[in-house]
Amino acid sequence: MTAAQPWSDDVVLDVTALSVAFPADEGVVRAVSDLSYRARLGRTLAIVGESGSGKSVASMAVLGLHDPSRTRITGSIRLDGHELVGAPEWVLQSVRSTHAAMVFQDPLSALHPLHRVGAQIAEAYRAHHEVSRATAQRRAVEMLDRVGIPNPDRRAKQFPHEFSGGMRQRAMIALGLVNNPRLLIADEPTTALDVTVQAQILDLVRDLQQEFGSAVILITHDLAVVAETADDLLVMYAGRAVEQGDAKAVLARPSHPYTAGLLQSLLSPSEELTELRTIPGAPPSLLAIPPGCSFHPRCPFADRVGAPCQTVLPGWRPAPGLVNRHLRCHLTDPVVAIQETGGLR
Ligand code: SF4
Repeated sequence: MTAAQPWSDDVVLDVTALSVAFPADEGVVRAVSDLSYRARLGRTLAIVGESGSGKSVASMAVLGLHDPSRTRITGSIRLDGHELVGAPEWVLQSVRSTHAAMVFQDPLSALHPLHRVGAQIAEAYRAHHEVSRATAQRRAVEMLDRVGIPNPDRRAKQFPHEFSGGMRQRAMIALGLVNNPRLLIADEPTTALDVTVQAQILDLVRDLQQEFGSAVILITHDLAVVAETADDLLVMYAGRAVEQGDAKAVLARPSHPYTAGLLQSLLSPSEELTELRTIPGAPPSLLAIPPGCSFHPRCPFADRVGAPCQTVLPGWRPAPGLVNRHLRCHLTDPVVAIQETGGLR
């Protein structure tokens, strides 16, 4: 998608031309195609898109969480300089637990239900540090305290089902950060939580990022969360990146019709709800991605551009008139086209 860029010290993760496919009886599910991005220390990269856009599949590939017997992965994933595509399982295990950690949407299924929360965090610590059980347990209590769980000594001895949803998510974050990873991937970390707890968890992730100096990848479908949290934004559709740039700049001035569509479906707090604005149609099946631009069946500009939208995959290119912005669209001046239509309304 992009030419190789020079390495710099703040880059923790360098994903280049990543494709992930799942052969199935009905055909090949092309979940991620030709995806390139970087995650940097001290910054939060949000990856957004609807369900099936490939955002979670790509992040699971980064941590080597796909079954290799059922997945075809090509391209390059370099985490702290270690190439992970094609690496043996023991390398993946070592790299993913020391250099990166993932916080899942549903901590109840990610935490072992029959083990005490403190013991799970202590065990993760002992897997990489030669310390006694007592020292690891102290570290677990410290981490629970650090993520804002009251009475951490007592809580460490409890089981996941004794925690509230918000506290379980805090415990997952403590588990993820116990070995000071340089990369934290948070996959829809607040989706299952109520709004107040969501805000607390996002504040916590931001505080911890500053304290630990790590890179954060935040996978979400929620642009309000992006606006609150992200430095950089990558928008995905049908397995491909369609727009990338500074998060605030993209939200203020989207250059891809799909990003504009996502934004128009957000309600501002001052708006009265008269009708729900949505992007017409549905994301395509990844077994039969439309030719040309995969967004063309839903795009209000496809008729204006004509045949290329239906037949030619748009290249990844700098967005005209915008700094540090890339997109995949045939429109000659997409920002102007979107503004002329007042967003997409
Ligand atoms: Fe729409 Fe065509 Fe741009 Fe795709 S390439 S987003 S169909 S205008």
